[in-house]
Amino acid sequence: MDESIVVSQLLDHSKTRWDISKLRSVFYDATVTSICRIPLPLNVRSDKWIWTKTVYGELSVKSAYWLGRSSNPPPNQDLLRGQIWKTRIRERLKMVLWRVATNCLPMKDKRLRYDANVDTICQLCDTGHESIIHLFINCLLARALWFKHRKVRSSPQIRGNRVPSLWLKPGNGSFKINVDAAVGAYHFAVAVIARDWRGELVFTCSKKVNTTLPLQADLWAVQIAEHFTSAPVMIEGDSQVCYRSITVQGMDTPWTIENIIHSVKSLASNLPFLSFRWVPREANEATHSLAKWSLLYSMYGSFDFGNSPC
Ligand SMILES: [Zn+2]
Repeated sequence: MDESIVVSQLLDHSKTRWDISKLRSVFYDATVTSICRIPLPLNVRSDKWIWTKTVYGELSVKSAYWLGRSSNPPPNQDLLRGQIWKTRIRERLKMVLWRVATNCLPMKDKRLRYDANVDTICQLCDTGHESIIHLFINCLLARALWFKHRKVRSSPQIRGNRVPSLWLKPGNGSFKINVDAAVGAYHFAVAVIARDWRGELVFTCSKKVNTTLPLQADLWAVQIAEHFTSAPVMIEGDSQVCYRSITVQGMDTPWTIENIIHSVKSLASNLPFLSFRWVPREANEATHSLAKWSLLYSMYGSFDFGNSPC
């Protein structure tokens, strides 16, 4: 094997499974275990480069800058300036503050560097030399603004539309499958609960998954939904990024979940009766409890009313 290898060389001939013997010949056992937890797509996909430092896998100057900075931490002064961008004020005010903090505004004291005869007296108060410190702190006009007009208009609070936080019955004659996963130290527990239009429980089950992605639960739900052929089925989960990637056309998908989203969409494309919806955690509480309970007690499989924690 070459010294430099690509991921596809570590897959078997089907390109949808890891080649365990090849992995063992190259990596230590712990690494092999970790690699095997990475879910592979159900269908063969072409290779592409991923810049792992950004969510969507594309190189950006910003991420490259921060990667460079990670080995060369910024001085405290830069950290303070960085706080300006996190402040909850209008964007144009942030820009002004940043210019003040970096002393890059064209004050008269700067012109002195190029013209020794320049008049540096502040035109607002006629008493001091115009510099950043003078203009924004010491100038009589600045002091009048800061200390005599204390009534500052606060920024309006941004409030999103309130999303219903209760589980709702699906439409008449249809079914709903709620999915969730619980994250353990070495594996995940994924759980599904199916209910009908009357809110009656159809089935509940959970299983242990050796993977690095809780979204395996959503893929499992689609595989289960394949068995519903006579009625509309809605899959509900509380992973916002996952459901936006599935339902919004042209939506960028984080590279870490791209393969699994592709598998979900590919399976779902054959199931015209299937739909997806994101709900807040509160509306998915029963499935969340089942996944947690399964993980805690290592109890997996189908549950009837007597055994189910829901
Ligand atoms: Zn002044």
